[in-house]
Amino acid sequence: MPSQQAADPRRRLPSVDRVLAAPEVQRLVELYGRELVGVQVRSALATLREEALREGGAGPGAEAGLAERIRRLVEEALGPPLRRVLNATGVLLHTNLGRAPLAPEVAATLPGLVDAACDLELELADGRRGDRNRRAERLLSLLTGAEAAVVANNNAAALALAVAAVAAPGEVIVSRGELVEIGGSFRIPEMLAAAGARLVEVGTTNRTRLDDYRRAIGPDTRMLLKVHPSNYRIVGFTAGVAIAQLAGLARERGLPLLVDEGAGLLRPRREPQLADHPSISELLGAGAHLVCGSGDKLLGGPQAGLLVGARELVARCRNHPLYRALRPSRLAYAALDGVLRRHVAGAPLPLDGLWPQPESHRARVAAVAAAVGGEVIEADAYVGGGAAPEAPIRGPVVALPGEDALLARLRAGEPPVVGYLRDGRLLLDLRTVAAADDAALVAAVGVARGTPG
Ligand SMILES: *Cc1c(COP(=O)(O)O)cnc(C)c1O
Repeated sequence: MPSQQAADPRRRLPSVDRVLAAPEVQRLVELYGRELVGVQVRSALATLREEALREGGAGPGAEAGLAERIRRLVEEALGPPLRRVLNATGVLLHTNLGRAPLAPEVAATLPGLVDAACDLELELADGRRGDRNRRAERLLSLLTGAEAAVVANNNAAALALAVAAVAAPGEVIVSRGELVEIGGSFRIPEMLAAAGARLVEVGTTNRTRLDDYRRAIGPDTRMLLKVHPSNYRIVGFTAGVAIAQLAGLARERGLPLLVDEGAGLLRPRREPQLADHPSISELLGAGAHLVCGSGDKLLGGPQAGLLVGARELVARCRNHPLYRALRPSRLAYAALDGVLRRHVAGAPLPLDGLWPQPESHRARVAAVAAAVGGEVIEADAYVGGGAAPEAPIRGPVVALPGEDALLARLRAGEPPVVGYLRDGRLLLDLRTVAAADDAALVAAVGVARGTPG
């Protein structure tokens, strides 16, 4: 028997313990833990054993490259981590890239608020319990003129909460022109049904009049809902009802009007691409009783849903059992607090980068273009995120010769850079990249083009 074992080609393979004891594998154990690495060591050895059987013996080199093979297996099993990416697409609120970037000044405050305890729900003055919403409510009221505010996990949650707390199980009246789907499964009819309300459609796809709403109001009506169509436009022979008119009808009938503003634009902006977007303060001023919007679109904050308006209605939302399921985490509150304070102060946010100072921006683009061997051409940037989808913002960008292969190499780089192709060239729009990242971008492009340094 012993001689037979010695003849077995698998005998020359090392034991699991011996592999685990190797310095390179010990480093993997420190990074990824003994359990996961142990599983992958067994898996790598099993593969080697099969190869040895097939090839009639584990060669003396069988262990060479074993640590590398194990590292690959471990990383495949874990999957890639979330990574910082340079967004050079010129689309600021890029849903695939996490939507609104936080202002670096706000991001810098986060580690200290989340790596230990914070006074999320504690009044430091008297030691009593405080509401996690109180800071956001105060700031949102200051910024929009709302009586009250509550924050949910995202705008879909804010809308669902408002409908569940204020309208369900009654009827909600919506124009047929606003029964929209807003990316990734947010569909107004399905949201209303999920929140327990009955949808009553009025008007037609392209035209809805005040009388359509008036006629649809019945004994079971609990809410009028107006939805900003965001990523969708009806053009041509169209008619909609102004908020002030709809609010007048709602008041007359003792019904609340909820407006889904969508983007979290607190106050009107002058830029032509945003001038048509009704802000939350304008909607409240026009008589809307409740307005909801996203935290991570035009607001420039974390994923969150803002719900602002009349005190009594907000209180119903705040006290509804679903609120507990839909409220944001302290991470989101920490970021939201910082961003809202910047809004109060009128401090710049990454959104402002879409309309940079022309002279200094042109110089910045020219410098990056020169550093990467590209040229400067004119191209369009977009707000994105369903806000002002059709309104381009013209400006200089970096153009490089190259197509899909270069795009892929840039994505695979460190840091990954996401650009886009246009007319056979690769474009990099710096309006969605922080100037502080220019050096990293230049270096990554150099590596991707094979001309580092
Ligand atoms: C974006 C948007 C939503 C969804 O908001 P989330 O924050 O992604 O949940 C809902 N309604 C409108 C009008 C929107 O623009």
